[in-house]
Amino acid sequence: MPTVSIPRARIADGSLPSVCIVCGARAKQRYYARVSAPSLAWVLFSPLLGLLFFWAYVILPGTCSSDDEGGLPFCKRHRGYWARRGWFIILGFVGMIALFVGAVFLNPPPAVPPKETQPHWLFGVAGCWMLLILPTFLIVHLSAMRPIGSTRKSLKLAGVHPEFVAALEDEDEDDYEDEDD
Ligand SMILES: [Zn+2]
Repeated sequence: MPTVSIPRARIADGSLPSVCIVCGARAKQRYYARVSAPSLAWVLFSPLLGLLFFWAYVILPGTCSSDDEGGLPFCKRHRGYWARRGWFIILGFVGMIALFVGAVFLNPPPAVPPKETQPHWLFGVAGCWMLLILPTFLIVHLSAMRPIGSTRKSLKLAGVHPEFVAALEDEDEDDYEDEDD
């Protein structure tokens, strides 16, 4: 799936082609107008926490709103594309932390020698959860259509559908001529 740089101005004013950015189907609605805000750059692309921050950001209430004129085109089927992945990753992560905290909390106090202390079984569950969820996060994250970089003027997205890229390039050739609706 191609990577494409989209001018922030075109996300903000809603002038991107009406082609779903995920599947290439017709998409009248625009969502996530605020991803074009330069002030968000540090949240979305801080290298270490980018993975979690981006997915936490997309599930914030109101982030997906289509009230604004601008945004990225998603078809009806993919309206929840980012939110679904966001919930999966964030709940998986919160679940992992909760299991570890629970395990520490329930861990028995050190036994008096010569008896040995057995760590609470919840540590085992938390460990398995972590081994399962971390690679799954990475697969979901890396295979998703997602922002991978930004400049002052544009937002770089990976995993974009080729039809969206083609529509964007066609428009450039047509000198931004208006597409009929
Ligand atoms: Zn779609």
